[in-house]
Amino acid sequence: MAKGTLFVMTGASGVGKGTLRERLMERVKLYYSISMTTRPPRSGERHGVDYWFVDRSTFLDMRAKGAFLESAEYVGNHYGTPRAPVERHLAQGEDVLLEIEVEGAKQVKAMAPKLGIPAVFIFIIPPSLSELRRRLIVRSKALNEEKLREIERRLARAEREITTALEVGFDYVVVNDVLEEAVERLVEIIRAERLRPWRMENALEKAAERSAELEAELAEMERWMIQDGGSGH
Ligand code: 5GP
Repeated sequence: MAKGTLFVMTGASGVGKGTLRERLMERVKLYYSISMTTRPPRSGERHGVDYWFVDRSTFLDMRAKGAFLESAEYVGNHYGTPRAPVERHLAQGEDVLLEIEVEGAKQVKAMAPKLGIPAVFIFIIPPSLSELRRRLIVRSKALNEEKLREIERRLARAEREITTALEVGFDYVVVNDVLEEAVERLVEIIRAERLRPWRMENALEKAAERSAELEAELAEMERWMIQDGGSGH
C-alpha cells in the first residue's frame, strides 16, 4: 500500500492555523498530529486535544530518547511532534497533518527523504504584519505589559520567518485573509497531492489491465463491424 503524505502546515502564531486546520479537517480526511508542549494551556485548551501539556523534564527526557520527529523552542517554550503515531498512520496509508513553526518544518524537510516519507510544506501567511498584530491583540483579550512583550516577540519572529520563507523551500504559500478562500486553497493542495503517481499506483495498475468479459464483447463487436464493413447499412 502507498504511504500517506505528511502535510506540514507552518505559519506565524496568530495567523489562524488552528481555525484553518479545523475547517480543513471537515473537508478532507487527515490524521492530525497532536504536539507536545511545555507551554501552559490557554483557557479552553484541552490536554490530548489541542496539545499534550507536559513539564520541562518530561519533554527533555522524551527528546533525549528520540521520541520526537522534530522539536523546537518557541518564545521560551518547547514544542515537539511525537514520532510514533505519525509513522504509524503514514504506514497505514493515511495522510497526516502537522501544524508546526519554521524550525521544526526545516528539520522535517531535512529528514523526510531519508525516512522515505513524502512530505508537502505549506506556508500560511497573514495579509500583512499589522493584521497579524491585530489578531494577536484580539486573541489575548485582557492585555498587560507582559502579554504585550510576548506579542512583540511573536511578531518579530513572524517577520523573520516571512522574510526568509523562500530559503526554507516551501511547496505552497497560502494567504489567510478570507478564511473560506484559504480553506479552499488547502483543500485544492491536498486533493492535487493525492493525484501524484505514487499515490495512484492502484489506478495505474488497473489502467493497464484488460477485462476478459469486456474483451469478449469487443471482439464480437469488431466481428460485426467487419462483416458490415463497406455495406453502408
Ligand atoms: P502556540 O503557543 O501559539 O500554540 O504555538 C506557538 C508556535 O509553535 C506555533 O507556530 C505552532 O505552530 C508551533 N508548534 C506547535 N506545535 C509544534 C510542534 O510540535 N513542533 C514545532 N516545531 N512547532 C510547533
